[in-house]
Amino acid sequence: MQRKDRDAVLDLVNVMKRMYLRGLISSFTGNASIRMDDGILITPSGIPKWSLRPADIVKIDFSGNVLWGIHAPSSERRMHLAIYSVRNDVHAIVHTHSPYTLSLFERLIEYLEEVAEFQKIVGKIEVVEYAPPGSLKLARLAEEKARNKMVGALILKRHGVICIAEDIYSAYAKAEIMEENAKVLYIHETIGKRI
Ligand SMILES: [Zn+2]
Repeated sequence: MQRKDRDAVLDLVNVMKRMYLRGLISSFTGNASIRMDDGILITPSGIPKWSLRPADIVKIDFSGNVLWGIHAPSSERRMHLAIYSVRNDVHAIVHTHSPYTLSLFERLIEYLEEVAEFQKIVGKIEVVEYAPPGSLKLARLAEEKARNKMVGALILKRHGVICIAEDIYSAYAKAEIMEENAKVLYIHETIGKRI
């Protein structure tokens, strides 16, 4: 493994653990990838996210063929490849199942668009209609919405969240900021008014 790949693999494992500990993904949901010159590093399918080790990460080429790795690549690899194919500015993708973001996405989008600081960090958020997880249809729908260079995140209806960025930590930060603000909205609308 080249040194560049090794560093990126460590970043991927680190981010997946953070996402798990922050409640953005569960053992068998969520995935992430980093684009390299000759393919993408992506999380494996079927391995509990909290137990991920560097050796579990898989490398695939831009057609989806496995270059190396001991596991099958994420079932959402087609969606990752489709987004990279239309966004040469994007080098990392995280996919979460953030519960508050997913439940309150309409209000959240409105709210984040009103605050210039969040707008700058997250970018435009687009909503993708439901298609089965892992399907080619979902990959195509996500690709269509991600095509606009202003887009920094996607809500996959009844499924999850996609955050895209120049690097993996910026993509992770977007997912975290979205969930944090969705929690604020939830608390405000449930108990906040009574204080
Ligand atoms: Zn998912």
